[in-house]
Amino acid sequence: MKNPKQTKDKQRIYNSREWRLLRDQKRRANPLCELCLANGKVVPTQAIHHKIPIETAQSFDEMMRLAFRWDNLQSLCYKCHSEIHQAMKSHTKEGHQKAADAALQRWISRHK
Ligand SMILES: [Zn+2]
Ligand SMILES: [Zn+2]
Repeated sequence: MKNPKQTKDKQRIYNSREWRLLRDQKRRANPLCELCLANGKVVPTQAIHHKIPIETAQSFDEMMRLAFRWDNLQSLCYKCHSEIHQAMKSHTKEGHQKAADAALQRWISRHK
C-alpha cells in the first residue's frame, strides 16, 4: 500500500548516511550480482535489493529494521533487480486485480 508518509519515510532512510554506509558495505561484501553468480555469470553489483520490501512495514520502526537488516539485503545487477521487481509486482494484490479485470473483460467480449 502506498501512502505519502511511507514514501517520505522511505526517502528518509535512503537519504541517510547510515543507509549509504550499509549499502557500500554490502556492495563490498558481495561485489558480484548474487543471482547471476548462482547461474555461473560474473556481473558486478549495481543495486542493493531488500528481499522483504521495506514498503511492507507497518510502521517507521519496522521499516528501519527491514532496511538495515543485513540478511534482508541482496546484491544484484540492474537486470536481475528490475526482473525481481517485475516478478514481485505481479504478485501484489494490484497485480492479481489487474489480471482478474483482464479476465473479466475477455469474458465480457466473448459473450457479447
Ligand atoms: Zn544479475
Ligand atoms: Zn529492490
